[in-house]
Amino acid sequence: MLMVANWKMNMSRETIVSYLDALSREGRWARWCAHGYRLVLSPPLVYLDFLMHELQARELPFWVVAQNMCAHEKGAYTGEVSADMLRDLGLSGVILGHSERRRLFGETDAHVAAKTALALTRDLVPIVCFGETEEDRSAKNHAKVWERQIAPVWKEVQKARASGSETPVYFAYEPVWAIGTGRTAALDDIREVAWTLRESFGHDCASGLLYGGSVNDESLSMLVEKGTVYGFLVGGAFLDPEVVLRSFDRLLLHP
Ligand code: PEP
Repeated sequence: MLMVANWKMNMSRETIVSYLDALSREGRWARWCAHGYRLVLSPPLVYLDFLMHELQARELPFWVVAQNMCAHEKGAYTGEVSADMLRDLGLSGVILGHSERRRLFGETDAHVAAKTALALTRDLVPIVCFGETEEDRSAKNHAKVWERQIAPVWKEVQKARASGSETPVYFAYEPVWAIGTGRTAALDDIREVAWTLRESFGHDCASGLLYGGSVNDESLSMLVEKGTVYGFLVGGAFLDPEVVLRSFDRLLLHP
């Protein structure tokens, strides 16, 4: 199970150090690992290298993923960061197609698919976000939106598999109406997503399903269902390391 902390555009070197101090205290993370739970940290790009070094120095086995990358391999793309650069830092993967990138920075389904294809060629694990807006849901279009967002990505995953890639791919269901709003989806909603992905794209597509949207240590335990949810993508709540610790404690209580 993956627990992904998306720090978005937050944190500093100082707060990263205190965050890791809090997580290393008492070595509770060793129990998470023993139970197959993995913490994944996604800092702003400028702190990737710093975070990698801090984790190494403390021998903390957390994965680090970027919040985005460029769809092009290299060249004249001012302000962008390439898959090779992420690889060069030793990163595990990259979050792609977050709704904030789609909504605020004009990312299209085609961009997300191209980035996924490139990430897979570099053995970077893509965590691909998708999800409907409130309007899509009111119009009962939500399943169509999921299929539209995932179809081009899944096509690239199939191509990569045909060329021998075994890099895992995770899909994070993040309904736009749940992100940062304090409203979480119901377990039934997530079951519907899992069912739709299985029906439309097959078992492999649904097996790495994550959920994100106002998750915290309390809502989390109501949304854990083996076979439906493979993990969580958490924004605001995981800026606080104490919430991370409490969340893992709750997960460990789960059968
Ligand atoms: C996110 O942005 O990926 C997210 C899930 O945010 P929050 O947990 O704050 O809703």
